[in-house]
Amino acid sequence: MKVPFLDLKAQYESIHDGITDAIQQVLDSSAFAGGPFVDRFEKEFASFCHCQYGIGVGSGTEALWLALLAHGIGCGDEVITVPSTFIATIEAISFCGAKPVFVDIDEQTYNMNPDLLENTITPQTKAIIPVHLFGQMADMDLIMEIAKARGLVVIEDACQAHGAQYKGRRAGSIGDAGCFSFYPGKNLGAYGEAGAVVTNNLNLDRNTRMLRDHGQAKKYYHAMIGWNARMDGLQGAVLGVKLKHLNSWNEARRENAKLYNELLADLDGTVVPREADYAKHVYHIYAIRVQNRDGLIKALLEKDIHCGIHYPLPLYLQEAYHFMGLGKGSFPVAEKCAEELVSLPMFPELSKEQIEYVVTKIKHFLGNQ
Ligand SMILES: *Cc1c(COP(=O)(O)O)cnc(C)c1O
Repeated sequence: MKVPFLDLKAQYESIHDGITDAIQQVLDSSAFAGGPFVDRFEKEFASFCHCQYGIGVGSGTEALWLALLAHGIGCGDEVITVPSTFIATIEAISFCGAKPVFVDIDEQTYNMNPDLLENTITPQTKAIIPVHLFGQMADMDLIMEIAKARGLVVIEDACQAHGAQYKGRRAGSIGDAGCFSFYPGKNLGAYGEAGAVVTNNLNLDRNTRMLRDHGQAKKYYHAMIGWNARMDGLQGAVLGVKLKHLNSWNEARRENAKLYNELLADLDGTVVPREADYAKHVYHIYAIRVQNRDGLIKALLEKDIHCGIHYPLPLYLQEAYHFMGLGKGSFPVAEKCAEELVSLPMFPELSKEQIEYVVTKIKHFLGNQ
């Protein structure tokens, strides 16, 4: 039985007619760059996130970058985040001219460990970017408390957490801004590249909106130096159709995770994901921990089961960030997780039989070691 890591085609087939119709409307109206389909999606997505404002941009990376710029973050500033995330989180910091500063993660949730946060704050610190990794939110109360006491901005990297909750509050709605990616494989994925910033701050909305459109509020009158970071009309229309299904897709992911958890429960040598008491996890990634991670991936691949690794190398050990001078051993929890985590196939359309097959093969491998 083939079990892909992700199956975008299965999802497309389930919404085929709605997508065709939406794309046709964009073609008929020639609203390709920004425009009414993007406007409508921005409002719907902001409301989905329990936020007042939403700004569509070209990618999650741009969402993070512009949210930082809109807060005036730049040269000489420090921004605290985690080393266990996709590189885009810190590229955004670097592209503002600021310096990423790392804090280690919690071994249960794989998110920022707020107990270690205070120690990393310096007079140069301007912002904190908690990353809601794998679809589970970071411990926001503690992070917000520290940020408030120190006058720091909080920007949520919610690129993996569309619809996730913290004590009933939606990802993106707790910090000063929330950043989302609609890369095709995300829980809400475009048919191309796209992203968004959500916020409840009118000033931030205005600044981000100008930054993504060459610093202009009025055509050809430029109040600041911006960029072209607009969302495509086609992506706005596609995302509008898909947003209506997001809750049920997230529920399907949760059901799949529940089944995996049950089947893997008493298996020695594996750690399954734990949903924190405060959280509603949306399982963008379903990752378990095992000692012989690479061996497991190879054995599963031989059975046509496709896994991923998120992420094999903490960011400070990446060649691109060697200049920071942070060696092995700097953040032990991040390093341990990078060696042990394996992401199993996870998508809403994954079947019970496929999950059972994956678990049978995992048991097989662990039993035969
Ligand atoms: C996907 C992702 C991004 C970047 O989003 P793009 O749309 O690919 O630019 C940033 N941060 C995290 C945690 C992500 O998973």
